[in-house]
Amino acid sequence: MKKVIIIGAGVAGLSAAIRLKTLGFDVEIYEKNEKVGGRMFSIEERGFKFDVGPTIVMMPDFYKEVFSFSGVNPDDYIKMVQVDPLNVIHFQDGTSVRVSSNLPKLMSELEQFGMKETDGYLAYLADVYERYAIVKETFLDKSYRKPREFFNPKTLHSVLKLRTLNSAYSSISKFVKDEKLRQILSFQTLYIGVSPFSGPSIYTIIPMIELLYGVWYIQGGMYQMAKAMERRFIEMGGKIRLNSPVDEILTLSGKVTGVLVNNKPIYSDIVLCNADFPWALNNLIKDDNIKGKYVPKKLDKMDYAASSFVIYLGLKKKYKTSVHAIRFAKNFKQNIDELDKDILPDDPSFYMYSPSQIDSSVAPDNKELIYVLVPVPNMKSGQFEWDFGMTESYKDKIIDLIEKIPGFEDIKANIEVLKIYTPKTYGYKFNLEHGATFGLKPTLLQSVYFRPQPKFKTIENLYFTGSSTHPGAGVPIVMAGAKLAVNEILKDHTTHE
Ligand SMILES: Cc1cc2nc3c(=O)[nH]c(=O)nc-3n(C[C@H](O)[C@H](O)[C@H](O)COP(=O)(O)OP(=O)(O)OC[C@H]3O[C@@H](n4cnc5c(N)ncnc54)[C@H](O)[C@@H]3O)c2cc1C
Repeated sequence: MKKVIIIGAGVAGLSAAIRLKTLGFDVEIYEKNEKVGGRMFSIEERGFKFDVGPTIVMMPDFYKEVFSFSGVNPDDYIKMVQVDPLNVIHFQDGTSVRVSSNLPKLMSELEQFGMKETDGYLAYLADVYERYAIVKETFLDKSYRKPREFFNPKTLHSVLKLRTLNSAYSSISKFVKDEKLRQILSFQTLYIGVSPFSGPSIYTIIPMIELLYGVWYIQGGMYQMAKAMERRFIEMGGKIRLNSPVDEILTLSGKVTGVLVNNKPIYSDIVLCNADFPWALNNLIKDDNIKGKYVPKKLDKMDYAASSFVIYLGLKKKYKTSVHAIRFAKNFKQNIDELDKDILPDDPSFYMYSPSQIDSSVAPDNKELIYVLVPVPNMKSGQFEWDFGMTESYKDKIIDLIEKIPGFEDIKANIEVLKIYTPKTYGYKFNLEHGATFGLKPTLLQSVYFRPQPKFKTIENLYFTGSSTHPGAGVPIVMAGAKLAVNEILKDHTTHE
């Protein structure tokens, strides 16, 4: 039986592990942290159970597929409920919009903007759905080994049909004129750390996916997904070594031989690396001559997505809010331009998550859990230290802004638990290059064929999976990527050689 070592028990590592085990490989995961999940992490304090990273469940079928692939019923592992409204959007003029994936409810909110705008909104959905079908068939289910697999008439025709050269915001602006509606439909590119004003327009599929497939919640919080995958993998006989950072990927004559953990070599036929691609190239492969094009100079020139500053609040009382809410900056464009220019936004837009609105298991009785995510620049420019002083003053600024949202005026006085993750925390906790919480930025030249692929060309039997590799970041997307990585392993190996 061939042995696969997986570096990292993030979402991609765990889902690849379950698939490989199902296919008959001997699989062992080495994870640096004390528990599984990677960015899908959790913190517990005084009865508050905080999800650390992902919170929005989109494309639920992707979550379920990993369990059904291994022969079990997903409902026995994760319990999902649909969230309605998808989110509540707070604008600076005191108005708010409830966005629902329930069509009649959505229509009544939209029609406040007039029938012409509503018509534009619906036309936008149809347009993006057509492009989504192309993405799903042509790019999400496919990885690339050779140039001709991408540079062929069929694939290039699909690229043209995507019309992705303009930005998400300008693409949406063709359909709706109202500034608030434009913002409601474009901010979601920030979910993958990309500006709606400069990122490729194809990422307008994100709000379309939210609306057409719904947003879901996993009972107990997102971390239950990581625990469920861990449980399934162990049930199948898989081994997970926690608190075991890999120090090096070992190679001999251009072939992988295993990994080095605590100065001890552990041998395997195959290594699948789930640690962040640029970080792993810079830190786990010691010889620059075998890195192919991904030498330190090239990695340094690449673009990295925005990062996150997250405040986790355990509050002494309940608040009237919704599971997902957005607070828009007064000047959204300026806020996002600042991110692109490595400026820490003074009046940022931010996202608020309150699972205790629908799940009593994540907070003590009559108390509220609120997680506040502020998109901030990554640490590549070197100008942000995120030391104690900077962290405290940014936290105070954000809490002052929350207090200005109607209904949250007394939040400061009701804080019982307060935790913070800065880009620096994410960087060292999960080994993310430049603390970029969404990895390599999905610019056109860092997407699809141009993004690092699962099969590493210059070292035999080494494969990669996770956010900085094709197809990209986001839980369902890295799960799709894990499937591609497993398919690449299968092209080269059978289990019984
Ligand atoms: C704040 C935040 C909010 C997000 N919100 C959403 C959301 O709402 N919805 C959504 O779909 N996605 C969201 N995402 C994105 C999503 O969380 C990620 O794309 C996904 O979880 C990444 O999984 P991964 O397997 O690629 O990487 P990781 O989670 O980074 O996993 C890699 C693993 O490798 C381990 N590792 C690293 N180096 C080593 C080493 N040397 N030895 C051993 N182990 C090592 C790490 O500890 C980690 O466990 C969010 C991310 C963040 C940070």
